Amino acid sequence: MASGTTVSILPCGAMSTDITWLLLAPGRAMRTRQTKDQPAEWIDCPTHAVLVDTPDGRLLWDTSCPRDWEERWAPTGLQDFFPYDKVSEEEYLDSRLKALGLAPGDIDYVVFSHLHFDHAGNANLFKNTDAKLICSDVEKEYAFGIDGPFAGAHLRADYEDLEFDTVSGDVDFLPGVSFIQTPGHTVGSMSMRVDLPDTGTMIFTADAVYRGESYGPPPVPASIVNNLEQWFASVEKLRGIAEESDATLIFGHDPEQTKTFRMAPEGTYT
Ligand SMILES: [Zn+2]
Repeated sequence: MASGTTVSILPCGAMSTDITWLLLAPGRAMRTRQTKDQPAEWIDCPTHAVLVDTPDGRLLWDTSCPRDWEERWAPTGLQDFFPYDKVSEEEYLDSRLKALGLAPGDIDYVVFSHLHFDHAGNANLFKNTDAKLICSDVEKEYAFGIDGPFAGAHLRADYEDLEFDTVSGDVDFLPGVSFIQTPGHTVGSMSMRVDLPDTGTMIFTADAVYRGESYGPPPVPASIVNNLEQWFASVEKLRGIAEESDATLIFGHDPEQTKTFRMAPEGTYT
């Protein structure tokens, strides 16, 4: 528990995509013979960042998608699978920070759940600032080790010119803020736990759990999973921690849950 710590969720609009990327659920993404002629189901895939203000520093969790997504993602094809086309001017990450009276240089730590294109998309905003960029050691090793400009949803242009510090294993990082290794989606995917005096425990799963339906039980995996066995184990690890701490889980890309967020700057979690 950390008194004086606050959490602000910064919703950054949504990508649009075929739900099959997010949810390999029988009857939902997968058609039965009775529904085989139905068109693909496209849904909103919202994206957010999280600002954690602590007496020992200001932390930003993830950086969402970039303004220049259409050009930046062009080499990968992701701009056609996940167009970032449901975003208004005030929803871009830099606008969200500005609305809170913050510039990139006001952030002490930028921590990445993982380095996919829709989480590291604004990492470059923090170039030449004093902000420390941090991800898990295995995520860094993988992301900097890929051949060519991209591999799957890791896009070198997002991060290759930046210096990253790393964390190993589950770590207490700031008072009331810890990182939980939840690999499976990528080799080094992490979740963030914040223990607040009023709200209690919040766990930000990022892509370790996309949506409520992914969490279950039973858990429903997705099309982008690096290691399915690790992914299932990570979901159960989070479930164990959530049950023991009576935590609120905040999923990475859940359109229904996103509607329920308290909105910064008016609404923060204390
Ligand atoms: Zn991802």
